[in-house]
Amino acid sequence: MKSANVKMMLMEIADLFIEKRDELAKLDGVIGDGDHGISMARGAKAARECLLSMTDDEPVNEYFKNYGRSLIAEIGGAMGPLFGTIFTEFGKCCKVEESFNKESYRHGVINATDKIMEFGGAKKDDKTMVDAMIPAKNYLVEVDLTAITFADLCAEAANCAHQGMLATIPLKAKKGRSKFLQDKSIGHQDAGATSFYYLLSKIAEYVKENPND
Ligand code: ADP
Ligand code: MG
Repeated sequence: MKSANVKMMLMEIADLFIEKRDELAKLDGVIGDGDHGISMARGAKAARECLLSMTDDEPVNEYFKNYGRSLIAEIGGAMGPLFGTIFTEFGKCCKVEESFNKESYRHGVINATDKIMEFGGAKKDDKTMVDAMIPAKNYLVEVDLTAITFADLCAEAANCAHQGMLATIPLKAKKGRSKFLQDKSIGHQDAGATSFYYLLSKIAEYVKENPND
């Protein structure tokens, strides 16, 4: 996928988080402080403005890098740097590839998962975004890239993130604000895991609709 389309895809991602603001805020409201949707939408608006100020022919990694930086600058607390890392890691992987493709997608998700676990200290089953990331990462580590299209690769990884997101429901939170709720956090879906699933599902949708970019 080349520059203009990466820019377009990121604009659609920003629009999605603006659209999902209330839904994500509601999820965080049950077991957190209710600001997740607002933070993600604020970050997305800043990222959108930044993308609009860029031309359509910049190196692919610049769009990802700027999206990540906008989240880091705009969202306070831990979520800006954590979610921003996903985009900055995609950017680093595209630098090598010079386009957004199966390899850069695979490495971006794997590296982002490792970095976020290292920075945030969350492990599997702590009921965080990491629980949606690990199944996608594990799938991407194993998959034979020669035997799958980019669109199917993204769809499968999004499916894994979806399962990981749903699997947060019965968990007891061990990280972030929800950990203070102890057993009361059980039975509710994690907001950050939901955001990660939405991100991968939007990428999958875009790649499916623009298979030859
Ligand atoms: P805050 O917790 O500062 O209010 P948000 O509401 O934006 O930030 O984000 C909450 C989400 O952050 C949680 O749903 C969880 O997925 C994620 N999260 C919290 N702590 C961590 C962590 N240490 N590592 C990874 N993700 C985390
Ligand atoms: Mg919150």
